[in-house]
Amino acid sequence: MAPLRGVGVVVAGGDDRETEVIKEFAAQGARVTVVARPERDRLAGVAATAGLAEAVTGQAVLCLPISGVAADGSIRCKFEPQIVVEASALARMEPEGLVVGGPIKSRALVERLKELGLRHLDLADDDELAVLNAVPTAEGAIQLAMAHLPVTIHGSKFAVLGLGRTGLTLARTLRALGAEVWGVARNGVQLARAKELTVHPTPWEGLGAMLGCLTGVFNTVPALVLDRRLLAACARECLIIDLASAPGGVDFAAAEELGIRAELALGLPGKVAPITAGRILAGILTARIRGHVRHLRLGAGS
Ligand code: NAP
Repeated sequence: MAPLRGVGVVVAGGDDRETEVIKEFAAQGARVTVVARPERDRLAGVAATAGLAEAVTGQAVLCLPISGVAADGSIRCKFEPQIVVEASALARMEPEGLVVGGPIKSRALVERLKELGLRHLDLADDDELAVLNAVPTAEGAIQLAMAHLPVTIHGSKFAVLGLGRTGLTLARTLRALGAEVWGVARNGVQLARAKELTVHPTPWEGLGAMLGCLTGVFNTVPALVLDRRLLAACARECLIIDLASAPGGVDFAAAEELGIRAELALGLPGKVAPITAGRILAGILTARIRGHVRHLRLGAGS
């Protein structure tokens, strides 16, 4: 039996990745309604409504973009004008429904979700998704470096700041392309993992001493780690690519003053590999919705 058969799912806003998500939901038997998306005339079995309130009425699941909901309730919509998630719309969902997507910054919406007994699943906390997304992120970061550098990755020297899910995959991929890599972390386990990957394990205190010899630095730490003092130790032709969520971890004003090229590169999976990133998202969302539906059915049976 199709695992999502009969489950009412609304997909609102987003970008090309959600096209893969919608296809997968439909293939799994869900009743899919889209809002602020172009699929309405293109995918069989997918309905569309103009407004979110109408779409979510009596539905069990609302999928919002992975970028989340802004403080004013607006969500990212690549294809149509931005829409706002109104608290009043949520009240129309099925009781114990699921709202899944990125972080919700609107306090009014968070409170309303709680009052209504709706569950919010924040994909920013999904470890499995982050590990899988590290692959298109690393490839996108390297693509950017290749576009800006006059030398090959092979034989070049890079530092990767932060060796979490993204940093480790990036360090490993750079090594596979023949680069020499320094992996910088504060955590002994991550440094041990670096060593295992033939990446030079480097505590933060050791960063300043080797910055001058680097072709480039990739940052994955979402805190200011590459400050003016460290930037001043870099060669002027060193390329800095910051992958950490806004505002990143680099003093960009100082980099500009010092004549160092530094770029904040966000949302790479959706930009460089929307189909792969969409399939990753589709797999995770399907699994999470199945888990939620199973939980409700078990609850109803007990
Ligand atoms: P992660 O697994 O949590 O890794 C973060 C790394 O940063 C860890 O090594 C962590 O060390 C370190 N760190 C955090 N705060 C620090 C601090 N104040 N000082 C020193 N080290 C610190 O996260 P991730 O999944 O790799 O993601 C990293 C960042 O990239 C996030 O901001 C994420 O939103 C972003 N991201 C961007 C893209 C893109 O397309 N640009 C794609 C995916 C993710 P500890 O473990 O010791 O805390």
